[in-house]
Amino acid sequence: MKFFLDANCFKGYVDCLLDVGDKKYAEAVDCVFSVGKFASDSGELFIQEWKQTTGGSYNPFVNDLIAAWLAEGKIELLEFKTNQWTKKKLSELGVPKIDARIIDFCSGADVSFIISEDIDLFEPKAKKSDSKRMQSIKCNGTGDVAKFAKKNLKIIISCSCHIKDYVN
Ligand SMILES: [Zn+2]
Repeated sequence: MKFFLDANCFKGYVDCLLDVGDKKYAEAVDCVFSVGKFASDSGELFIQEWKQTTGGSYNPFVNDLIAAWLAEGKIELLEFKTNQWTKKKLSELGVPKIDARIIDFCSGADVSFIISEDIDLFEPKAKKSDSKRMQSIKCNGTGDVAKFAKKNLKIIISCSCHIKDYVN
């Protein structure tokens, strides 16, 4: 089973390793490794995003972590196969290009789960809602983008706190 971890959740995980993060991120990553692995693109676009979000390529700790995951087979690098129909639908739903790229990649790479805390991957239209409503959309799978991905692409988009409910 393949999972995608967005850059902010990756940063949350690294923060956990440094003892300053919310442990929901560490639990999400543990959950992934209990049943599968991460998928990323072979052009390393998304790995670059992980590195940039966590302090750039100067951060040897993160570079070592990613190198170890690659060596242990915990990240599978896959070709980025883009799909025009998917991109068009995501654009109609208001998903910003940078976030649509994640879903487009995952669809072409047969990824089953995307872990994110970014409302743009669940329901961009709710961006101006209060934080309680946004958290509810992320945690309950009710966002229009999450529903589209589940129905049409067979991808579950989940917050880090609820991924374990989908996997177990
Ligand atoms: Zn949740």
